[in-house]
Amino acid sequence: MKDYTQIIARNWPKRDTTSAMTINPPCYKGSTVLFDCYADMLKARRNEYTGISYGTDRLPTQRQFEEAMRHLEGGAVTRVFQSGIAAIQTALMAFTRSGDHILIVDNAYGPGQRFCRKVLQKKYNVQCTLVPPNVGADIEPSIQPNTRLILLESPGSITFELQDIPAITAIARQKDIVTLLDATWATPLYLKPFALGIDATIHSVTKYISGYSDVLAGTVTVGEKYAGAFEEFYKLMEIYTPAEECYLALRGLHTLAVRLRQHEHSALAIAKWLQTEPLVDEVLHPALPCHPEHHIWKRDFTGSSGLFAFTFKKDYSDTELASFIDSLALFRLGYSWGGYQSLITAAKTLRATPSRYADKTIIRLNIGLEDSEDLRSDLEKGFAMLK
Ligand SMILES: *Cc1c(COP(=O)(O)O)cnc(C)c1O
Repeated sequence: MKDYTQIIARNWPKRDTTSAMTINPPCYKGSTVLFDCYADMLKARRNEYTGISYGTDRLPTQRQFEEAMRHLEGGAVTRVFQSGIAAIQTALMAFTRSGDHILIVDNAYGPGQRFCRKVLQKKYNVQCTLVPPNVGADIEPSIQPNTRLILLESPGSITFELQDIPAITAIARQKDIVTLLDATWATPLYLKPFALGIDATIHSVTKYISGYSDVLAGTVTVGEKYAGAFEEFYKLMEIYTPAEECYLALRGLHTLAVRLRQHEHSALAIAKWLQTEPLVDEVLHPALPCHPEHHIWKRDFTGSSGLFAFTFKKDYSDTELASFIDSLALFRLGYSWGGYQSLITAAKTLRATPSRYADKTIIRLNIGLEDSEDLRSDLEKGFAMLK
């Protein structure tokens, strides 16, 4: 036979790829998925086929990761996306229509807010209003007759204010307003949003779930009430998330709990030490008793992850900040978080609502998996540059 593609195909197990029982499931790749017979193809055309009929139908690798997340979160349906921001955008589009109004907490992920302003509001006539990052039952006056959705993120990933989730969901439920929570910081292990009345959650899988800064992915998990509507919208969008990313995300889930314990432990040790450091003004970490919403963290969360921030007493110039940041050896300079590599960023926050951090430079630390004593002496050396 001259056609080598046929020779390869002949050596491939026809149906049963599970005959080699590796611990991790195989990573399925495919656009075309073969039907057994024409009758099955006809069934698929009538929407009666229970198998997978095409790559965008989500192959077993995507489905296994979605199922794992759904179980962890206790939702009714999970769908995977090519990034966290794609998950946010699709969820917002799925639950709103022209003429609606939505509320967004002012500490929600920046690119998500930008999408609301520049796409939802400008192009699709969905009005967006920002509410304070530490909002609770006092959200009520901001609700309008056409308010359809509330986007929450608790804690926010720069200034770490928390929302009173049960107080907000109690009001939203009565008015049939969809509550959507970005729970990336807590991961599915340290917060159970569905038990607090949330309708849908978002996770940037890019962060702790994948854990190695080499994956971009996101999920949306939806509770019973809106699961059907969301599933239908996802299908209409024909979204595809690469199988390799789902494979790596699934693999990451196996070590999430042990990694998080280490991130939590090191971050708390460094946060507590920073509180004693003379140059440092405030440490922004929800698990510290001095955090303004610490009581909420204690009530709703079962742990804390490794991302937090602090402010300096002095308002340093960019040159001074550069001397501090560029002297660090273990903390690298870059966006994103949740990986083993410790990272640092510094920026002033822009807020439309009153904020206790207005005009303050927020130094954000992603505490990785390095030895926490090493991380501390790295920061000590950096602080010496400012003294
Ligand atoms: C990073 C992040 C996102 C976006 O995730 P990507 O996968 O980077 O698009 C969304 N929400 C929060 C809180 C994040 O930190």
